Amino acid sequence: MNTLIQALGAAEPTLMGDLEALYKDLHRHPELSMHEVRTSKIVADAMQGFGYDVTPNVGVTGVVCIMKNGAGPVVMLRADMDALPMAENTGLPYASAVTARDEDGIEVGVAHSCGHDMHVTWMIGAARILATNRTAWAGTLMIVFQPGEETAEGASAMVRDWGEGRFPKPDIILGQHVMAGPAGTVNYRPGVTLSAGDSLKIRLFGRGSHGSQPQTSIDPVIMAAAITLRLQTIVSREIAPTDPAVLTIGSLQAGTKENIIPDDATIKLNMRTFDEDTREYMHKAIRRICCAECDASNAERPPEFTTINSYPLTENDLVATQKVAQAFGQQFGVNASLAPSPASASEDFSIFGRSWGIPYVFWFVGGTDPAVYAKARQEKTVNQIPSNHSPKFAPQIHPTLETGLQAMLTAAGAWLCPPTAA
Ligand code: ZN
Ligand code: ZN
Repeated sequence: MNTLIQALGAAEPTLMGDLEALYKDLHRHPELSMHEVRTSKIVADAMQGFGYDVTPNVGVTGVVCIMKNGAGPVVMLRADMDALPMAENTGLPYASAVTARDEDGIEVGVAHSCGHDMHVTWMIGAARILATNRTAWAGTLMIVFQPGEETAEGASAMVRDWGEGRFPKPDIILGQHVMAGPAGTVNYRPGVTLSAGDSLKIRLFGRGSHGSQPQTSIDPVIMAAAITLRLQTIVSREIAPTDPAVLTIGSLQAGTKENIIPDDATIKLNMRTFDEDTREYMHKAIRRICCAECDASNAERPPEFTTINSYPLTENDLVATQKVAQAFGQQFGVNASLAPSPASASEDFSIFGRSWGIPYVFWFVGGTDPAVYAKARQEKTVNQIPSNHSPKFAPQIHPTLETGLQAMLTAAGAWLCPPTAA
């Protein structure tokens, strides 16, 4: 047990009640990506109250908090703050009823259906323990509250806004995510732990005409249809079956009426890969196939490619993950485990470490009622448990709150605390 976990054990009895109240408040007041104004203010005020040196508005609504506490490593801890444009359907007494206008001006529900409210709560708890127990650790703490994870904008915006010499350079970056899995457990993975995710918009240019006179047209509907089918052959025919990859075309739009051949068509696709070479190969293959199909249709203009968003691979540093794993083993025993495979979700967390060339570790904390999870496992219905981004996603507050708080202090302590006997 490290000295921070000992400090947590001796914390004021009001701690968990305060954190639960904070969690419910954040849950009731979710904010869309890059609009986390209220959350950011709550966070900045709390951190200032704990004695951190707080810089708000780094990357729009991001908050950077520093505490120097003697000689030792610079440890960066990161939590994301944003919610999703979807209505909550959990039926919880503290469910969100918030609506907002999305980027297209459409009124949407807003909900913390990815659990970033839990991430903020864990971090505020960890920050409070660290601030009130300065004899338990040594070094420099950099606690970062990041906006816009769900749109892959936030980490990039913070890095762009970071500035030279404004903040110390971290030695290690740590982050965690709540997910479906038994509450009370944590899991981690050295190396690739989350996929890279890339979303593209592809515009295909034809020549519009009357539906009765196809000879006067270049039909973008045919191009889009041929491209849709042909793109599926990248994963099925060009990538080795042992190399996992996903290519999904989630949107295909063309035309307004049955007897008008439209001028253009738009495809929106998402791909997930687990290695940089495969990722690069798929990007090239998508361009090759789209350009060739447009040529085949005699299109007068090549297709236009726009990146909607791009998440890099989350690839945990091997040595640092070993250090976290060892600390988790001591703290959680059998409740800490190695994830059997990477997840096909994506995160922008690694942008910090990648941009600065710093090792990072990202791990997962279960949020499902353990009894519900055990039953689902027995009945082979684990896939039916509401996962992140489900309108029914709702972490069980206890012990998820305690576990994530302990996990963050345990991992941070592996760098900040003096070694203790196991
Ligand atoms: Zn999410
Ligand atoms: Zn998330």
